Amino acid sequence: MPLFSHLVSSRLPSKYGHFVMDAFDSGREEQPHLVLRNAGIGTDVVNVRVHSECITGDVFGSTRCDCGEQLSASLNYIAEHGGVLIYLRQEGRGIGLVNKLKAYNLQDEGFDTIVANHQLGFATDLRSYEAAIVILKHFAIQRINLMTNNPEKLDAFENSGIHVESRIPVVISPVADNERYLQTKKDGMGHMI
Ligand SMILES: [Zn+2]
Repeated sequence: MPLFSHLVSSRLPSKYGHFVMDAFDSGREEQPHLVLRNAGIGTDVVNVRVHSECITGDVFGSTRCDCGEQLSASLNYIAEHGGVLIYLRQEGRGIGLVNKLKAYNLQDEGFDTIVANHQLGFATDLRSYEAAIVILKHFAIQRINLMTNNPEKLDAFENSGIHVESRIPVVISPVADNERYLQTKKDGMGHMI
């Protein structure tokens, strides 16, 4: 079975609205990439959020980062305006959950999120958006409004065959626990927040 192939579609009513959930092969059977979308998405210009897994933020409401808030904001937006959320299984900017938790300990010793990754022997950001491109093509989507604050995500679509018509900012208000993290994303990674 080729990587990123479509595995299953199911109806998924949620507190945000009614979605269809699709699973795509990620190379790890127990962790497929996921899509949440409106049943009637067209192929004109589609609102798209590409969200990388963050169990601590997405599931447990961690305030160390803003992932959970970005996820809810995106699902609310898609429920209201239509679109597609692609949920990529690349926890902790690609370093995995255990290493992310180790990085949190380094952050508690005073290192910022970028330096903490380097201390553990990882690059700042190991995420790849190749799967998202394949998944959008599966749905014959060629033009998107990308919901992101991350310039690297915009760059990822260059020469991909998918045209980003506009960027939809994901606006989150910082809380005390994630103020420094958000400042690092802005200063160190160029996020537009
Ligand atoms: Zn997070």
